[in-house]
Amino acid sequence: MHDETLNLKAAGADPTGFDSLVIPVHRASTVVFPTVAAYQGRREAIYDGFSYGLYGTPTSRALEIRIALLDGAERAIVVPSGFAAIVLTTLASVANGQRVLFPDNAYDPVRPFATQFLARLGIRSTFYDPLIGAGVAALLSDDVGLVWVESPGSVTMEVQDIPAIVEAAHAKGILVAADNTWATPLRFKPLARGVDFSVCALSKHLSGHSDVVMGAVSVGDQALYRRLKDFSRFLGYGVSPDDCSLVLRGLDTLPVRLNQGETNALKLAVWLQRQSYVREVRHPALDSNPGHEHWRRDFSGSTGVFSVLFEDWTRTRLAEAVEGLELFAIGASWGGTHSLVAIFDRPPLRSATDLGHDGPMIRLSIGLEHVEDLQADLAQGFAVFEGSQPAHTFGAPRASGQE
Ligand SMILES: *Cc1c(COP(=O)(O)O)cnc(C)c1O
Repeated sequence: MHDETLNLKAAGADPTGFDSLVIPVHRASTVVFPTVAAYQGRREAIYDGFSYGLYGTPTSRALEIRIALLDGAERAIVVPSGFAAIVLTTLASVANGQRVLFPDNAYDPVRPFATQFLARLGIRSTFYDPLIGAGVAALLSDDVGLVWVESPGSVTMEVQDIPAIVEAAHAKGILVAADNTWATPLRFKPLARGVDFSVCALSKHLSGHSDVVMGAVSVGDQALYRRLKDFSRFLGYGVSPDDCSLVLRGLDTLPVRLNQGETNALKLAVWLQRQSYVREVRHPALDSNPGHEHWRRDFSGSTGVFSVLFEDWTRTRLAEAVEGLELFAIGASWGGTHSLVAIFDRPPLRSATDLGHDGPMIRLSIGLEHVEDLQADLAQGFAVFEGSQPAHTFGAPRASGQE
């Protein structure tokens, strides 16, 4: 044979005797088949076998198997982002003429997805009070095809009564999907509480190093999995095996990262609660957090992400305070090794409920720095508020309605 042919035909090294602890990265668009019959049957191979890189590689399957195990699921599917997982779950569940219920504190991009994208497809949306519990039954009209829960909800951190919502939805044959990104399958297992779809943004805690964007959906039966796989194909979704490898690596340390973030975050949350510029700390493990009793009943712990509602009078100096922090980078996303702060001039838009707070907020993602350094940094950054507190509020009982 000529060099050109030898160059392409040389066999790879036999991997026998090479056992690594690491799941290999299998890159491919094309998958080759041993027979014509196998090639002709490749459509069926998208569910459990391999047909084309877009529909799965041994690396993406290994990640799906691991997520399914942690979620107590029959199957999981990985998709290009957490948001893609929300889109996939929704489109695989409802059609033109149907309605989706979303909690009022849903992950922010969900609202324009509902009002601008689903609406164009003739799919209606209703935003509901995240603390509605069994009362959701009153919203379950005949056109409802899917109920989303997100607990705790983005930014305002209300913990939902998921079993009560599932019971009401299932009584009418309606599917329930949970955005479980905050808790991860290590702190809450939605499928064990009857939820049909457990969605997690792997971009956050699971990958854990702020360098991957990916999402997953876990389900309890093969039929739902096949439906998700079909719709994932219709949407043209695929994931990079290199990215899957990064998530697999992140998963190895997920328990220790979560434990450390949880411990650090709780200390900082309790400390922040005592500061004069703080109106309220939203952290599921605090007694005062809305729905705390549901967290206590359903979750096995907390994570490193929580929010702080600031007194109105801090508004003019909050940006300066946040920019003065040295250990907290300003950024969206969360769940990585570095502490982050996201700032909200006002709480995110709501349409179904009134938060009763119009002041500024921050969301903190606590990383793996030493907690004493983090507390000292918050103390020095927020020292700008000293002297700017309105004099008449000094010593006034906080919730008193009278002057
Ligand atoms: C970040 C996030 C998502 C979206 O994940 P991406 O991978 O960034 O698309 C979905 N839900 C929640 C609660 C999130 O925080």
